Amino acid sequence: MKAAVFIERDGVLNQVRTAGRTQIPPLCLEEFHIREDAREPLELLRAAGYLVLVTTNQPNVARGLLPRRELDRMHDLLRRVLPIDGILLCPHEESDRCNCRKPGAGLFTEAAFRWHLDMERSFAISDKWQDASAAFVAGCNSGLIRSPWNGSVHHDFLVNNLAQAAEKILQFNHPVNHVSVPLAQLEMA
Ligand SMILES: [Zn+2]
Repeated sequence: MKAAVFIERDGVLNQVRTAGRTQIPPLCLEEFHIREDAREPLELLRAAGYLVLVTTNQPNVARGLLPRRELDRMHDLLRRVLPIDGILLCPHEESDRCNCRKPGAGLFTEAAFRWHLDMERSFAISDKWQDASAAFVAGCNSGLIRSPWNGSVHHDFLVNNLAQAAEKILQFNHPVNHVSVPLAQLEMA
């Protein structure tokens, strides 16, 4: 079974403007600036066998402020520039009461089904508490990147940036999760 690393898009993979304590996600391709420093950590995770899956709440689609076609153009670019295996999107706003909008776990459980993921070995990485909450509900681990949006929910580790998050995951992955076959069983085989 494969494991995945779920990565929040806004603020982690692309830059966002902030107004006070609010992140303002890009509304058109011209405003969509991908963080080049994300490439190496993602490559390391993939090399270690993880699927890299982007998750994103984009309520501006439901609000009519972000045309779906424009969002698709951003995500086409994201796929070309960064080594990612999939993008999971919630286009709804809070009043739609969907279960894919994080902190709902819908995007995570959908991915678990689609890619047959081992959620116990999977991780979510974000600068926002909503991802840690969704990860907890979906039964996977979570790491938060220090930001004003960390909240106070359960998370498994706290780091300063995506590179450190990848490093942590690779440490966790190291020998701890490898199933060792008892010697007696090997001799019988
Ligand atoms: Zn949704």
